[in-house]
Amino acid sequence: MKSEMLSQTIIPNKVDWDSIRNDFPILSTQVHGQPLVYLDNAATSQKPLTVIESIERYYKRENANIHRGVHYLSAEATFAYERTREQVKDFIHAEKIQEIIFTRGTTESINLVAHSFGKIFVKKGQKILLSAMEHHSNIVPWQILAEEKQAEIRVIPMNPAGELILEEFDRLLTEDVAIVSITHLSNSLGTINPVKYIIERAHSMNVPVLLDGAQSAPHIQVDVQELDCDFFVFSGHKILGPTGIGILYGKEKWLDLMPPYQGGGEMIKTVTFEKTVYNDLPFKFEAGTPHIEGGICLGNSIDYLNQIGLENIHQRENELLAVAYNALKDIPGIQFIGTAKEKSSVLSFVLNGVHPYDIGVILDQQGIAVRTGHHCTQPVMDFFKIPGTVRASFSFYNNLEDIDRFTFGLKKAIKMLV
Ligand code: PMP
Repeated sequence: MKSEMLSQTIIPNKVDWDSIRNDFPILSTQVHGQPLVYLDNAATSQKPLTVIESIERYYKRENANIHRGVHYLSAEATFAYERTREQVKDFIHAEKIQEIIFTRGTTESINLVAHSFGKIFVKKGQKILLSAMEHHSNIVPWQILAEEKQAEIRVIPMNPAGELILEEFDRLLTEDVAIVSITHLSNSLGTINPVKYIIERAHSMNVPVLLDGAQSAPHIQVDVQELDCDFFVFSGHKILGPTGIGILYGKEKWLDLMPPYQGGGEMIKTVTFEKTVYNDLPFKFEAGTPHIEGGICLGNSIDYLNQIGLENIHQRENELLAVAYNALKDIPGIQFIGTAKEKSSVLSFVLNGVHPYDIGVILDQQGIAVRTGHHCTQPVMDFFKIPGTVRASFSFYNNLEDIDRFTFGLKKAIKMLV
């Protein structure tokens, strides 16, 4: 399909997507002499100029350590950092700022919960319920805990479309489950899981639920109070912000009872050699000098997302996904991996007789960035008995020309390889 035809399939709305695209300087650069087509958004998002400039501004005008200095700069930096906490609270509709903990990212947030929640609440013989489509970072921390505590990992299976089998979930949800930890939106399949049902069912058995929101936070309006999840974790770099900063949302009732993850400055009220009194939430979980620049500039990325609106973003990305699917679906030998009814932003596929890596290399030569491989979800690849997939993942700043170029590039790669 040509762009003019494709554009008729996109429902116009009030957002000027062309001008938004221009906010992302990297999207007008060239790769291997070709204009960049960036379709690796599930790995990390690109950054708008406002976020890039905020990083420079921070180091030029605001740099100081936070929470401790009496001087002007320290107060400014502290104010800006804490402002982001407030913004994050509103972004995910949490009730209290005490429930927002800054971490290095999704991975660290899950490790924190596995360590601190696990220390108190996971007992020998209990079950930790995960799903078949988890990212390694929502598997390995729990395995480490399970080994320490002699607990057992149980896995909610999925069907060939990449949807969780809820009858199996109901069966696995027994009284000795200590926690359910599942992804909200799968990074390798695009499946949006029925988390509301899962949370309701788990809570009916007094079992808390952690949602891995690494992929949902960039694409779906999240309301942690409405979902009623106990923990929600995500990474700044996937929502247009810097790397090295992320969020752990936890209900205060859990965070209060959980021991600190790391010890050090900031997380204490008083220290003697005999006894340390820990700081209040959220600082109890934030030992040492944090990623101040990351925290402050994450606020700028949230401002940017809010200006467009997550609902507009979700709609736009669904439309791009539908257009891309239609453009690819008739390619001989293509098999889509992840065909759930509820899905978003990710198109994963394999092609008969062609290794995903080879396709990735030939696309790269044409300036097109996709991800190939197991996407840190090896159990998903084992389930489908494939070594990996080609994954094109979309963001609102992608456009129809990107999809045209990708389709053309893919067909060219197939011609060369088959
Ligand atoms: N969970 C999911 C579903 C992800 O997609 C990712 C990143 N690919 C992670 C966890 C880990 O995120 P990070 O590397 O930012 O900690």
